[in-house]
Amino acid sequence: MKVALITGANKGIGLEVARQLGQHGVKILIGARNTEKGEKASGSLRAIGVEAGFIHLDVTREESIIAAARQIREEYGKLDILVNNAGVFPEYFQGLFDVTVVPQEVLAATFQTNVFGAILTIKHLLPLLKKAPYANIVNVASTAGSITDQSDPASPFYSMRAIAYASSKAALNMVTVQVAKQLAGTDVKINSICPGWVRTDMGTEHAPRTVAQGASIIVKMASLAKEDTTNGAFVDDLGIIPW
Ligand code: NDP
Repeated sequence: MKVALITGANKGIGLEVARQLGQHGVKILIGARNTEKGEKASGSLRAIGVEAGFIHLDVTREESIIAAARQIREEYGKLDILVNNAGVFPEYFQGLFDVTVVPQEVLAATFQTNVFGAILTIKHLLPLLKKAPYANIVNVASTAGSITDQSDPASPFYSMRAIAYASSKAALNMVTVQVAKQLAGTDVKINSICPGWVRTDMGTEHAPRTVAQGASIIVKMASLAKEDTTNGAFVDDLGIIPW
């Protein structure tokens, strides 16, 4: 049975990815920094027949990632799917988009979670991903991190303003590119995706897409076959997104 770890899976897109993968017969590990929320989310999946467990994981604390990796190694000895989904967008909720007002704490929190959290999670889970017959890593990025779209006045995404979040997702995309080069020739692949603008606590009720729509591209890229050569790409439902 395949084993998948989804970070930040107690709600939103992450929980929906867990549900969809679980309904495809994958053993789900709900990574969450809050034990009560994580247990509740994994219980809600078990209630619909998904094999799901909770694993404590705060991606901003390396010792938490190391402990989670140890637990997965002891219980399963391998990991087939890693979805780096945990993310924050604090400037949005505080209206701090302007470079002249963004506080250091907002910059630090955004990069600690969205970039360094993903790097450290890959760092400690890669040995287990290499133990699987083949494995897929999906980094949940955003068109907010597409330098091409953000700098093109003709792009529908040009009007977005988010100094910390957008630069963190661009950095996450570079993580994908760098790790993909390192993984070339192995049976582990890594890709970035954008789920579109999705109705979650982060996306708000104004977003047009459901969590099911947002999760589908993540599930697709998490389920790439061993023979699939897609590695180091940035994609959404419609295909390749320009970096
Ligand atoms: P939510 O705010 O609904 O969920 C974010 C999840 O990340 C929560 O489970 C949260 O946990 C978790 N999280 C935050 N910090 C940490 C941490 N340090 N350790 C572990 N988990 C953490 O957002 P979405 O579901 O909308 O977003 C999921 C991903 O999709 C994010 O990476 C986001 O940037 C990306 N994305 C979302 C879009 C949208 O329109 N919604 C568009 C493009 C990309 P807790 O409940 O404890 O806070």
